[in-house]
Amino acid sequence: MTLLNLAEICPSTHTLGPGQRFVVWVQGCCFNCPGCVSPTWIPQTQATLVEPLPLANYIISQPGIDGITVSGGEPMLQAAALSELFSYLRQQRDLSIICYSGFTYEQLQAKSEPAISQVLNQIDVLIDGLYVAQLNDNQGRRGSSNQVIHFLTQRHVKEADFFTQQPRDVEIHVREASALIVGVPPINFSSHFKHALGS
Ligand code: SF4
Repeated sequence: MTLLNLAEICPSTHTLGPGQRFVVWVQGCCFNCPGCVSPTWIPQTQATLVEPLPLANYIISQPGIDGITVSGGEPMLQAAALSELFSYLRQQRDLSIICYSGFTYEQLQAKSEPAISQVLNQIDVLIDGLYVAQLNDNQGRRGSSNQVIHFLTQRHVKEADFFTQQPRDVEIHVREASALIVGVPPINFSSHFKHALGS
């Protein structure tokens, strides 16, 4: 059993993949892309450690869930724990699995870690590559146009436009003392949001 180092979760969203999805953001990234949308989740520090099985049970218990999306941080740094999580999920339900990574698919395929191969065999869609601010075309569910949507199974092939072309949207989930922005933000989202708030 390998613990998953979680930065954040969102039990229900419609912005990060087709259908209603549970989102897991892992803590820690080996990259440092200028303009990263989640810089507080780059440091490879301990955040919330969870066991894959209880997390899988919690995800399954969410009503109406069609799938899970994993982002970060860099998910492939925690491939062993994620692979366990995905196994437990799929033992119970045939959920859709989408995963972001700063590594390209080719780089991941060249790695010798069995857990990374297992993750690649489990996920339906991989959105790969680093975020390049100059290539942010304000479209779809990738941060910049260099990132490639890899349909590793047939599950979401017919929904390719959702990933590559559909207008972006974000959800703002208000917590007790904070707010979580979920989704790939449209360009200038922060300034528009601040303007809307009158600040
Ligand atoms: S790979 Fe993703 S999480 Fe890591 S620094 Fe780049 S944009 Fe941020």
